[in-house]
Amino acid sequence: MADIAAHKGIWVFAEQRDGRVQSVALELLSEAQKLAADLGSEVSAVLAGDEAIESQVQMLFDHGAVNVYLVTHPELKEYRTAPYTRAVVELIKQYKPEIMLIGASTQGRDLAARMAIRLNAGLTADCTGLAIDPEKKILLQTRPAFGGNIMATIITPNHRPQMATVRPKVFRKSKVKNQNSKVIKFKPTINAEDLLVKILQIVKDESVKVNLQEAEIIISGGRGIGDPKNFKIVEELAAVLNGAVGASRATVDAGWISAHHQVGQTGKTVAPKLYIACGIAGKIQHLVGMQDSDNIVAINKDPDAPIFKVATYGIVGDCLEVVPALTRKIKELRG
Ligand SMILES: Cc1cc2nc3c(=O)[nH]c(=O)nc-3n(C[C@H](O)[C@H](O)[C@H](O)COP(=O)(O)OP(=O)(O)OC[C@H]3O[C@@H](n4cnc5c(N)ncnc54)[C@H](O)[C@@H]3O)c2cc1C
Repeated sequence: MADIAAHKGIWVFAEQRDGRVQSVALELLSEAQKLAADLGSEVSAVLAGDEAIESQVQMLFDHGAVNVYLVTHPELKEYRTAPYTRAVVELIKQYKPEIMLIGASTQGRDLAARMAIRLNAGLTADCTGLAIDPEKKILLQTRPAFGGNIMATIITPNHRPQMATVRPKVFRKSKVKNQNSKVIKFKPTINAEDLLVKILQIVKDESVKVNLQEAEIIISGGRGIGDPKNFKIVEELAAVLNGAVGASRATVDAGWISAHHQVGQTGKTVAPKLYIACGIAGKIQHLVGMQDSDNIVAINKDPDAPIFKVATYGIVGDCLEVVPALTRKIKELRG
């Protein structure tokens, strides 16, 4: 318990790919500032890479980091589990943060789990809400549990840092101007045993044409579209609106569309300006992935479908008629 008092500050792991800080890190910095205000604490970012990564430091300051721990080593240019774990754990042991937030990306999930074991710390994966307990001043980590049927709030009172991963787009990034920002340079010790895995080549998956999490407009199809070939009407509406195509898990499980398109608890979390749900019931596991969208249009033939509870606009009707009619009208309006 004595050691707990020695841990101070909220840290965000600033995930980078191809030398560029990922959006999820900036989203976490924004949320970390609210937590820091409640905790009376400071927000820091941990940026790891080779020497060239220093170019990304300013972006972290611009999004709320007061300190940036710049962890550089030639072997940290690309992400690999062992050297990254070694470097970040060494940094944590030296500087002792109270809270560590990491994006729940493939990289972050891998790193967070490994770090938690090395540090003997608790870790709550895929949080959808974070807060500070006003009395105990510990991190309240909320996430769906039991298949999304309840929201569980998890605490890790006896170990530090308190660690949580959060999926991209759960929080919104915001720009801030910080005075007194500071870079703390750190050279980790990386051993031969950390370098057993070598990256020979990085091949981008060209089949992933959708970047749902970056799209401002998403048109999603559910089982109500009736047939895999009817995804064509969803794609046509997406094309006229310059949007991306999403899907419910029922359609993914049925093999109608690839899992890259799935929105929801076990798919992607999205928050576009416009989300159009076509023939989607709106079960809680789907809603947790899209309910923070600015505007939600639901098209469903059942007036009691739960999707209407979160919809800004609801259309009760057959999506096989409504969706092509919308596409026609938008084409007409746009000449
Ligand atoms: C642990 C767990 C994780 C899960 N993760 C996810 C997830 O990430 N994402 C996800 O989506 N689901 C997830 N699910 C599944 C989820 O519970 C639902 O089963 C799924 O979302 C249902 O998909 P759907 O709405 O397309 O299909 P259905 O539930 O079959 O609903 C189809 C809807 O279409 C309407 N409809 C039918 N015909 C028409 C028509 N012609 N025109 C208009 N409307 C019509 C119906 O009224 C109905 O509301 C998860 C479940 C579990 C247990």
